[in-house]
Amino acid sequence: MDLYSGHINKLIEELAGLPGIGNKSAQRLAFHLINMPQDKVKRLTDVILEAKANVRHCKECYTLTDADICPVCANKNRNHRLIMVVENTRDLAAYEKTGRYEGVYHVLHGAISPMLGIGPGDIKLKELLQRLQGDVEEVIIATNSSLEGETTAMYISKMIKPMGIRVTRIASGVPVGGDLEYIDEVTLLRALEGRVEL
Ligand code: ZN
Repeated sequence: MDLYSGHINKLIEELAGLPGIGNKSAQRLAFHLINMPQDKVKRLTDVILEAKANVRHCKECYTLTDADICPVCANKNRNHRLIMVVENTRDLAAYEKTGRYEGVYHVLHGAISPMLGIGPGDIKLKELLQRLQGDVEEVIIATNSSLEGETTAMYISKMIKPMGIRVTRIASGVPVGGDLEYIDEVTLLRALEGRVEL
């Protein structure tokens, strides 16, 4: 027996497909949306569509941004010879929040995972190699300490070493399997300062 209308069921199903939203939260959100005034719902859907249409990859570091070049890459006061490699834009944001990192970033948009069939060609590694043709002094690998993050770090290290560029890995003060974005700023800074040569 269908307890709700078909439309509500469809809405719940779509919401439940979002990360971190279980079936109960999806139900709560669906009923909340249905009870919202029409203009508010319209504003929400417009914002989603506008974001989808206008957000793109920075041409240098591949983070998500509204412009061709993101604010970090566009900043001449940043050290462009120091590149921190992160898995996603949320990790970049976590390091930016510390306000203490002065280099630039490279966003991979994922990590190598043989289990999930994600290979080196599926993340922004080719683009990283291209950037390294320029004047780069150090690459800091700040992928997560999950199996995928470590596999990716190893791969990058092997790839870069022959180029004679210094390669470091953030210290393992970061909990295993911990997503960087959930780690507090002090821990992040300690991990950065305690980075080790690879
Ligand atoms: Zn950028």
